[in-house]
Amino acid sequence: MKMIRTRFAPSPTGFLHIGGARTALFSWAYARHHAGKFILRIEDTDVARSTPAAVQAILDGMDWLGLAHDEGPFYQLQRMDRYKAVIKEMLDAGTAYHCYTTPEELDRMRETQRATGLKPRYDGTWRPEPGKTLPPPPDGALPVVRFRNPVEGKVVWDDLVKGRIEIANNELDDLVIARADGTPTYNFCVVVDDWEMEITHVIRGDDHVNNTPRQINILTALGAEVPLYAHLSMILGDDGQKLSKRHGAVSVMQYDDDGYLPEAVLNYLARLGWSHGDEEIFSMQQFCEWFDLDHITPSAAQFNTEKLNWLNAHYIKQTDNARLSGLVRSRLEARGITITDEPSLEAIIGLYKERMSNLNELADAAEVFYIDLHPNADVLALHLTPEILPALADFIDGAKGVEWEAPAIAALIKTCIGKHGLKMPKLAMPLRVLLTGQTQTPSVDAVVALFPREIALGRLAAASVG
Ligand code: GLU
Repeated sequence: MKMIRTRFAPSPTGFLHIGGARTALFSWAYARHHAGKFILRIEDTDVARSTPAAVQAILDGMDWLGLAHDEGPFYQLQRMDRYKAVIKEMLDAGTAYHCYTTPEELDRMRETQRATGLKPRYDGTWRPEPGKTLPPPPDGALPVVRFRNPVEGKVVWDDLVKGRIEIANNELDDLVIARADGTPTYNFCVVVDDWEMEITHVIRGDDHVNNTPRQINILTALGAEVPLYAHLSMILGDDGQKLSKRHGAVSVMQYDDDGYLPEAVLNYLARLGWSHGDEEIFSMQQFCEWFDLDHITPSAAQFNTEKLNWLNAHYIKQTDNARLSGLVRSRLEARGITITDEPSLEAIIGLYKERMSNLNELADAAEVFYIDLHPNADVLALHLTPEILPALADFIDGAKGVEWEAPAIAALIKTCIGKHGLKMPKLAMPLRVLLTGQTQTPSVDAVVALFPREIALGRLAAASVG
């Protein structure tokens, strides 16, 4: 069987956005599923809009997601000679021709056509036909090169997502494939690359459906095998509108900043327009085993932040403490916080990760263990009422000698509240606030035990001062 070859071909005009990431994921997974090759191609021919920073942002995004390519990255700008050579071959073969119609003439042509109710199109003045005499080329004028599109028949392809699509050839203009300065145009570069990179499956956004019949015609004229096409529907925001910056994070790396794990984002994207029964949570390995193009929904997929958050919480719980603490550590260091060995960041994370749905929340929770803490005076006053002070004093006293483990600390808390006839929260709340500045924490005995005894006693001693 023929080797499956897919590609992701972003234009580096901005960051890797969530729609692009899904296209990349599906192309990658399809190649993986079939033990094929996944190619990364940077379509940087639009020099006015492409930037090195955007190229880097795309590479970073792919790297963060772990979507490794087997070949490339290929840069179209580095392949200009190849495109020009193919244009020359087409001119020689008569499948392309020089056209000297100026942009002004084209504008006039279109105006007249519109005025008479015709579809605006190139009138074919310079298109060679058997028995037709072409006008002499104007002196010194530089021609564009046009593809000699068939006039008869239609272009048909069985889109692997959208089903059969047919376009009559008389709907298609003779596409400009090289500008007057000799530079090849966008659709042409895509064709040459898909051909020479032997792409078998073009999986891309459905904003390219209109390009497909033109590309198929050029491929056919080149004698190239036409790949199969799968056009993915767009992604809508939570509100059903086209996904845009307005919806918050659209750049993949923004999800990193916002505390998402790449596996959560990948799992989320995998289910965005594709399904495998009711399966919601699965690894990328499992996804690659399951992934096919038959179960992609042709309708638009709607983004659901709540579901992404749910998946992220799931993956945070699943991730081992060592990896999580590495991720949280770099966030805390970026905030300028020095992390000491004690309290142990890994232990903090082990205790808190069950209740957090993103890495920033986890970092917020861990941060208070390493800073010079000044609990909010109002919150403290609310919980550290005079009736609590004797129980707290007993706790501090007992804490000096107690075995420094959560169960022993829990027993000490119980003794103290029992002695003073208090309910558990009465002592637990001021302990929480004094130690972490927060009113919501995991089990208070476990939180106390995270601190080295001296640090815990120091924070509690602040109560007698305050
Ligand atoms: N460069 C195009 C884009 O970023 C994709 C072209 C293609 O996949 O054929 O939208």
